[in-house]
Amino acid sequence: MKAVIAGAGIGGLTAALCLNRIGIEVEVLERSDQTGDVGAGIQLSPNGTRILHHLGLEQALSEVAFLPQGVELRLGKSGWTVSHIPLGETVRTRYGFPYYHIHRGDLHGVLSDAVKKACGDVVHTSSGVVGLMRHDDGVTVELADGTQTEGDILVGCDGIHSAVRASLQGEIKPRFTGMVAWRGLVPTNDLPENLMKPVVTSWMGAGRHVVTYYVRRGELVNFVGVVERSDWTKEGWNEPGNKEDLLRDFAGWHPSLQTLMEAVENPFIWALFDREPLAKWSDGRATLLGDACHPMLPFMAQGGVMAIEDAYVLSTCLEAQKEDPAQALASYENLRLSRTAGVQKGAWRNGRLFHLSNPIARLTAYGPIALASRLVPGKTSAPQDWLYSYDALSVRP
Ligand SMILES: Cc1cc2nc3c(=O)[nH]c(=O)nc-3n(C[C@H](O)[C@H](O)[C@H](O)COP(=O)(O)OP(=O)(O)OC[C@H]3O[C@@H](n4cnc5c(N)ncnc54)[C@H](O)[C@@H]3O)c2cc1C
Repeated sequence: MKAVIAGAGIGGLTAALCLNRIGIEVEVLERSDQTGDVGAGIQLSPNGTRILHHLGLEQALSEVAFLPQGVELRLGKSGWTVSHIPLGETVRTRYGFPYYHIHRGDLHGVLSDAVKKACGDVVHTSSGVVGLMRHDDGVTVELADGTQTEGDILVGCDGIHSAVRASLQGEIKPRFTGMVAWRGLVPTNDLPENLMKPVVTSWMGAGRHVVTYYVRRGELVNFVGVVERSDWTKEGWNEPGNKEDLLRDFAGWHPSLQTLMEAVENPFIWALFDREPLAKWSDGRATLLGDACHPMLPFMAQGGVMAIEDAYVLSTCLEAQKEDPAQALASYENLRLSRTAGVQKGAWRNGRLFHLSNPIARLTAYGPIALASRLVPGKTSAPQDWLYSYDALSVRP
């Protein structure tokens, strides 16, 4: 069987590895002229690292990742710690797999190298998918340069603006969330010693929040600052922003954050878009995976991890139902739809929690979290169990 995969992002590359694992030939079509990803960080929780380790990537990941010691919620202005949940060894003991912070370029490097080693030169750049024709026994994929390629199945891993999704379901534009995100990376050596703790911190404030954490073995500090603003709707990771605007958006916030933002040489800004959960992903022998079918706000740090879970479950369904690929794609969709929709909704909820402005609402929401963190610190990981203990390796159709 041959699978055509549209998109060589986290989802597409992981899908290539998972499908190759069960003996399916893959061809990966990437629109841009190079693979790789932008200079930003990504968090990989144990529900994702479980799969990546199973695919043989533990050594390569551990060479580039940073192992955070905890996750903290803090107030953006005063810096007061609302809660601390231990990660590090605690997360490995609880879920069996680590929590990584990693530079996106490094993650892409690890995945691309693994695909090349396992499958050969199957990733074709400058190969944007523009359309498809479904047949009973396969899919013809049309490329922007006018050429075509054939597969027994097609997996659309082509992101939030997925051309595969548009071909299957018609064009429905993603919605602007009314929020923009700043991002930047600062060499740790350019910062005062111990400015940032070795934890991921969500700094919360009225209508905005900041997330900070280390990547690349601790050599860089990654920050993302999200602000409710409707005056910027340009999407794309590489839109340069103005540092004065960034500092204005977080004026009066904690001095550590001011120092960090002052040190960012080139901040980037982009508008955040998402979609309501889709009712359907698959049609015959074509399906969707990752942001193509469930783009989400980044407030649970799960979009990439959900794409990794999708990829593994898809391969399990195809292995179990190889005689009927269309049925396998339908099974995959059934197994994944409600979990990913739940995470999409959870990300919205987190956004509301982080951005509360009313003092009474803040006290009501943050007070119990702060109390629990201090009175029963051992129990603070439990609310994450449904997310992190999901074992994609044992899911069966
Ligand atoms: C600020 C921010 C922080 C985040 N933090 C986290 C985090 O900590 N943890 C986490 O798990 N997730 C995080 N995410 C979400 C994560 O980045 C995405 O969910 C993830 O990148 C989705 O992967 P994907 O492969 O589905 O799509 P993409 O990463 O969008 O990849 C799609 C690929 O398809 C290509 N493509 C597009 N159109 C075509 C076409 N027509 N033909 C061929 N190729 C095409 C693109 O060039 C791209 O290479 C964050 C997102 C943001 C915005």
